[in-house]
Amino acid sequence: MARTSAVASEALSYCTSCKMDLNHVIVAMKGDKIAKVQCLTCKKEHVYRVPKGALEPQVAKASKAKKSAEETESHSIEIEWEKLMSSHKDIPLKPYTTRGHFGLGDKLNHPTFGDGIVGKLIYPNKLEVIFRHDVKVLIHAGTAQT
Ligand SMILES: [Zn+2]
Repeated sequence: MARTSAVASEALSYCTSCKMDLNHVIVAMKGDKIAKVQCLTCKKEHVYRVPKGALEPQVAKASKAKKSAEETESHSIEIEWEKLMSSHKDIPLKPYTTRGHFGLGDKLNHPTFGDGIVGKLIYPNKLEVIFRHDVKVLIHAGTAQT
């Protein structure tokens, strides 16, 4: 580790008076280590302390945040699905078949995925269906003429 610490240069240190990480001026060196510093905030001289922020593990926090983001995503599909199902509760549930005709907002029952609602029509013969835990693209015979 090549450090350019020298007397009269600045270094980040934990200040024993201010009780936080602050910029200090190096007052004395002991070999290649900082021995004594003067706080730029309170002007007090004290022994050098390693900044507290450098000691806290950052890696564990980052991976935890990523995991909760994934959980939120799968949870939001379920919320969306519940909202759609309750707002379309008067629409009869149609059994899904590849030969059926489905339109936007139609409710269907899929043998594998369960109950879903058509969220998007993809020309000419595909449907984007919102199921409880996933969004799937299914094929159908085409949108019925109205
Ligand atoms: Zn201080």
